[in-house]
Amino acid sequence: MSIRYELLTLLRDHGPLSRAQLAGRLEVPRRRLLAELDHLVEAGRVVEAECAGPRRGRRSTLVKLDPGLRFAAVDLDARSVGVEVTDGCLRAVASYSERCDIRTGPVNVLGRATRILEKMRAQGHFTQLDAIGIGLPGPVSFREGVPVSPPIMPGWDRHPVRDVLSGEHGCPVAVDNDVNVMTLGEQHSGVARTVDNLIFVKIGSGSGVGCGMQIAGRIYRGAAGCAGDIGHIQVDADGPVCSCGNVGCLEALFSQEALARHAESAADDGRSLLLAELLAAKGCLTARDVADGAAAGDAVCIGIVRAGGRQVGQVLAGLVSFMNPSMIVIGGDLADLGHILLAELRSVVYQRSLPLATGDLPMVLSELGARAGVVGAAVLASELAYGGPVS
Ligand SMILES: [Zn+2]
Repeated sequence: MSIRYELLTLLRDHGPLSRAQLAGRLEVPRRRLLAELDHLVEAGRVVEAECAGPRRGRRSTLVKLDPGLRFAAVDLDARSVGVEVTDGCLRAVASYSERCDIRTGPVNVLGRATRILEKMRAQGHFTQLDAIGIGLPGPVSFREGVPVSPPIMPGWDRHPVRDVLSGEHGCPVAVDNDVNVMTLGEQHSGVARTVDNLIFVKIGSGSGVGCGMQIAGRIYRGAAGCAGDIGHIQVDADGPVCSCGNVGCLEALFSQEALARHAESAADDGRSLLLAELLAAKGCLTARDVADGAAAGDAVCIGIVRAGGRQVGQVLAGLVSFMNPSMIVIGGDLADLGHILLAELRSVVYQRSLPLATGDLPMVLSELGARAGVVGAAVLASELAYGGPVS
């Protein structure tokens, strides 16, 4: 990693520091450090800030990121668009989200994000963006900045998301899969702050199950950018046919459609009074109804969640043996199935993986929750602008 990136991310994460403090934290020759700093001051990325020193009358010069730096974080999911503008230290200066159906296509959805940003510009939150980070709920070719055959995003296949946004906003843009973006967020300012080897599992009502991996401090995207797409790993050879054409995929057993199917059958055959009443009132059931029913203590809903937890757990147990992570974080909008799901995941993973791999392995819920995507997209934008791992 370059000195420039290390310097800028130190200032991003710790705020103003003196030259001596920077030298103490970076293992580089002092002359190289000072030359790089001068270069960054000249380029306007870093500014000097006078402040009172520890002794009266003595002043020390600190350096800090240019307060005018601005990043845009865009978080798209199946049903909403979230936009946040941050400063160079990733503190939010403006934030907005609205409902938006991803199936209305890229021109409409990206247009909505652009209109939100234009409004924020008009309100004076920035004059020029330094970078944009965006997460999409589907497979993304990270190198090309395009989604590739995303199952829940009709019309988006190979749409040039990076080039369109870059052209409209005149800044570099990084496009990634939403689960990788959430992993970045959780690692930067969530529950996994101190962790370098992380598995983040997203359990979403709109886009199924996916996972992000951070290995030795870096997101692992694989050769084509689809690492972590665990939804189509087979967990039941006699299971239902999946949307991908194969049999017994995790996604076919534990997804929005699968949960709704289980719930409707429990309502039809009278196993759950709560689900039967809901079905009579609404005409159909969703994964959200199962989550709410489980939270309310309905035994059938809890049973459906537990069965799903065991299936996700089987896949996770394989991943743990393969990767030996130091933490597993569960996120996504169905993560509030939380403690029921976690108990099942833990029991399967601890039973099936090697004791050495699970000895100190915390499995926890996301700390950032619904904010993981937007926080991670801001981290992604800053990595791009600071010359970090993504570029
Ligand atoms: Zn499948």
